[in-house]
Amino acid sequence: MPNATPAADAHFNGTPNRTQWAPDALWIEAGEDESALARRVRQRLPGVPVHIAEHTRLAEPPAGDAVGSVAGKRRLLLQRHRGSFLHHCPAGTTGMVCCNYLVLNFGSNCPFDCSYCFLQDYLSNNPALKMFTNVADGLTEIDAVLRAHSERTFRVGTGELIDSLALDHLTDLSGELVPFFATRSNALLELKTKSAQIDNLLRLDPQDRVVVSWSVNAPGIVEREEADTAPLAARVAAAAAVQAAGYKIGFHFDPLIAHDGWEEGYRVAIESIFRAVDTRRVAWVSLGSLRLTPRLKAAIKRRPQPTALVHGELLPGADGKERVWRGLRVKMYRRMLQWLREVDDQMPLYICMEPAGVWERVFGERPADREVADRLVAAHA
Ligand code: SF4
Repeated sequence: MPNATPAADAHFNGTPNRTQWAPDALWIEAGEDESALARRVRQRLPGVPVHIAEHTRLAEPPAGDAVGSVAGKRRLLLQRHRGSFLHHCPAGTTGMVCCNYLVLNFGSNCPFDCSYCFLQDYLSNNPALKMFTNVADGLTEIDAVLRAHSERTFRVGTGELIDSLALDHLTDLSGELVPFFATRSNALLELKTKSAQIDNLLRLDPQDRVVVSWSVNAPGIVEREEADTAPLAARVAAAAAVQAAGYKIGFHFDPLIAHDGWEEGYRVAIESIFRAVDTRRVAWVSLGSLRLTPRLKAAIKRRPQPTALVHGELLPGADGKERVWRGLRVKMYRRMLQWLREVDDQMPLYICMEPAGVWERVFGERPADREVADRLVAAHA
């Protein structure tokens, strides 16, 4: 379960309860303490000490401190974002088949602590858990893109550098994002999470423009490797609830991990998920293998709790990331595909961060880059 801070337990409606994450300390960049986001977060954390940071670096844990460390994940920094909010998903730059996905970053780092998390490497010099106060600037950026390309439909996600919903009980960010995308006819917003944090979503009307998706795994992997996240059963119950409230839903079996009993584990996960939801309103299901940069592998080895993830035979790919050998990846994808097709042969499926040769061996075809994205949005345009 997510960490809970006793001081932040319910004092009045709207404060975190015992199953919701709360920081030990809140840091706010000077000049941002009256922003709408900062006011909402402060109101929901009445017992948590607040510090004003003249320089946001002062509020950060030391550079090089592991992202999985207590320091990095136990304080929350609210600051203005000074760069671009909108980026292209990095898959398109590495020779992998690209599904043309845009990411909107409204924060970085994550209160959860998955042993395989790429943020341990990616944010090693910038490990503070932060949310950005100038949300409107991010929405202005994506609005300009959507208006300039009204002939195209975009998939836009907020879950690249931070879990999309893990802090929603504090930030109410969904209250800004869902109404914005509900009125955009050429975009689908994806909120990707390992939480069961859906209360705010249930009060909003997505107008069929929002996909809430869950990263899921075999039950044993969730238990051993995804510390502080919601249990698989809680994620599934949350998915069924938001679907009943009018949202599209998605699932990401990513990273698939070749562990003892993987076939049974993933078959059980598929059964438990898809018997609880309406498969006709599943926007997409993705599959992806565990992939480790050399630096991420080193960071995982430094974690205080040992994990078996880095001990199997892993081979470097064209993008420099290590994966299990191609034959085993293809076998895993094919088995997953078989079980998913048995559930519903119409669910849109894709694989993530794999070269065209793997696509061909799994699906029997080599899609062009834009084709994957076009197919995924076509079902929901
Ligand atoms: S939920 Fe995602 S971002 Fe958060 S620790 Fe796990 S892998 Fe990293």
